Amino acid sequence: MEFDTIAAISTPLGEGAIAIVRLSGDEAIQIADKLFRGKRNKRLIDVQTHTIHYGHLLDPKTGEVAEEVMVSVMKGPHTFTKEDVVEINCHGGIVSVNRVLQLVLRAGARLAEPGEFTKRAFLNGRIDLSQAEAVMDLIRAKTDRAMNVALGQMEGRLSKLIQRLRQEILETLAHVEVNIDYPEYDDVEEMTHNMLLEKANLVRVEMKKLLETSQQGKILREGLSTVIVGRPNVGKSSLLNSLVQENKAIVTDIPGTTRDVIEEYVNVRGVPLRLLDTAGIRETEDIVERIGVEKSRQVLKEADLILLVLNYSDDLTKEDENLFKAVEGMDVIVIINKTDLPQKIDMEKVKELTGKSPLVTTSLLEDQGVDDLEEAIAALFFSGSIETGDITYVSNSRHIALLHQALHTIEEAIAGVESGVPIDIVQIDFTRTWELLGEIIGESIHESLIDQLFSQFCLGK
Ligand code: GDP
Ligand code: ZN
Repeated sequence: MEFDTIAAISTPLGEGAIAIVRLSGDEAIQIADKLFRGKRNKRLIDVQTHTIHYGHLLDPKTGEVAEEVMVSVMKGPHTFTKEDVVEINCHGGIVSVNRVLQLVLRAGARLAEPGEFTKRAFLNGRIDLSQAEAVMDLIRAKTDRAMNVALGQMEGRLSKLIQRLRQEILETLAHVEVNIDYPEYDDVEEMTHNMLLEKANLVRVEMKKLLETSQQGKILREGLSTVIVGRPNVGKSSLLNSLVQENKAIVTDIPGTTRDVIEEYVNVRGVPLRLLDTAGIRETEDIVERIGVEKSRQVLKEADLILLVLNYSDDLTKEDENLFKAVEGMDVIVIINKTDLPQKIDMEKVKELTGKSPLVTTSLLEDQGVDDLEEAIAALFFSGSIETGDITYVSNSRHIALLHQALHTIEEAIAGVESGVPIDIVQIDFTRTWELLGEIIGESIHESLIDQLFSQFCLGK
């Protein structure tokens, strides 16, 4: 394929001492060469691939030195885009990196669209679609764990699994064809049915397993939406503040998203929490009072995690009990705060209300017990399997939606076989499942969908 040469700043603006302007395309090396002045008249068009060169960029209009740079030259196909790629490392300030970008644009490059580098890697066959999306997730990954999921996907773990499932389906379809065309035995009909059932079930089980991990994957990527509830004055705001202060607040750098709701992301031992910072959610002191238990259940239902705060130095009240009712069945951690004050709370009663949920005691005033709370949060969401790192996660919502459809289709196929629907009808469902799985890895996908997906990427990636 042939493309023009694109360029963009590929490091976050205003961060770090060094910034990179990246070029990709047939003319990438020539364009950089026009601007570059190295030692002993070294020319970039003459250098070996995958080498880095110190020098200056000159402004061709004035002949003056514009920037001190290090330039990496990488010839295709062994590059991210499979095209010739040049990376110009320059000083990190906005002014100098912009000057470099302007120079390469004037020398013949075109400003890249958001995600265009990754799109080229996809179109040039360097990566498949789920890998391309993983690059996007990487850019957005908010914690180390989320990063690992994205990395695993980029290495093609999800792709491999999907490809294996598609292969199973394809082989089954081929077998069915053969059986129908060349019936060797009288009971070929029954044999075909049995084989279809067996394979369909196999594929169904694998897809189900994959979908079961999807919730965890989503949590890793987007953060657990966490709501702190409790009566007035029990210490909700204090809890929120101490969680934000003790843990690195995660700065999100997703460009172009406007948010009505300001969220605070904190990373608690690898668990990303999204503390919703809206009136009435951050402070839910009297929502139960105001709208009643049933309604508040509706509000709280959206939350992944509830932190229910009680006051150690006060009697349990009807309000407290209503809160327990409102969060029944959800992931709850009960926190008894103000243990520095004399006890008034009835612990037996608290334990009864708490049931199997984790229970921690804190004195937020004296900074006691927050560690235990963090421990409890981590234990709740990273018990066992998720630590091992060799599970294939789906965390991308497009993948999840397609998997759901594929699962639904294969279940229809199974129901069809079981109720004696003619084989050629069942074949349609099989083929459809195969197609849906293909869409996850970008085969048989519609062009406009590709454009839409890649436009979500950050510029310069
Ligand atoms: P909220 O109304 O539930 O958000 O409670 P706040 O966090 O605003 O706290 C109410 C009051 O309790 C404030 O004066 C806090 O300083 C105080 N407080 C919070 N935690 C503790 C604690 O562990 N011990 C004591 N003695 N006071 C606390
Ligand atoms: Zn408060």
